[in-house]
Amino acid sequence: MSFKIAIDGPAGAGKSTIARKAAGQLSFLYVDTGAMYRAIALGLLERGTDLQDSDALLRALEEITVTIGYDSTGGQQVFLNGENVSSRIREEKVGNMASASSALPQVREKLTALQRGLAQKENVLMDGRDIGTVILPDAQLKIFLTADAAVRAKRRYLELTAKGVESSLEKIEREILERDERDRNRPVAPLRQAKDAVLLDTSDMTIEEVTEKIVELARERMGEEKR
Ligand code: C5P
Repeated sequence: MSFKIAIDGPAGAGKSTIARKAAGQLSFLYVDTGAMYRAIALGLLERGTDLQDSDALLRALEEITVTIGYDSTGGQQVFLNGENVSSRIREEKVGNMASASSALPQVREKLTALQRGLAQKENVLMDGRDIGTVILPDAQLKIFLTADAAVRAKRRYLELTAKGVESSLEKIEREILERDERDRNRPVAPLRQAKDAVLLDTSDMTIEEVTEKIVELARERMGEEKR
């Protein structure tokens, strides 16, 4: 049986960076589920789909195909109807649309089977919002990563500034809080810490420290499984 690691947590807690590094060190397949929600969101934005119109939404979802692949460094690439959209999905407007559209059951249903299927074949480390609670409830290791909203906003601000994108710290913090609120309070697959998840508050930890902690926990659990 494959070994499954689920990492959940709010936006900006450092999930993707840490998850990718930890997966690399463990030689696990890394699956960034947020990228899949972002790809669907981009497809909906391109079509100008009204999320309130359930017929239009269903038609759009029938047309949208999301697949993933990996580059030579193990980085996940996401494809929307065959086109590599890995960079475009990082735009702020796509993130906001993903936050809104991922609350819809029709959208979640489309990705659930795909995500579960990926975890069947090999050892996997998957990150998102509902991995430990809904997608992989039988994961052998579950981590809930969090950090203060102010710290998360500052990290995102520095990331954008480094890329040369102009932004405002206040606006980013407001958006992060709004996104948290939506993710936590939606009726379907809300962001929750699974009962058996290990809570890691990364506010005062470096990326390396958090990665090391996760790798250590994973090695411990894998050792216990073999015994
Ligand atoms: O993690 P990331 O910011 O890329 O995710 C984009 C959006 O997709 C989030 O705001 C969240 O609403 C949604 N998402 C989700 N379930 C997941 C992963 C992401 O609802 N498993």
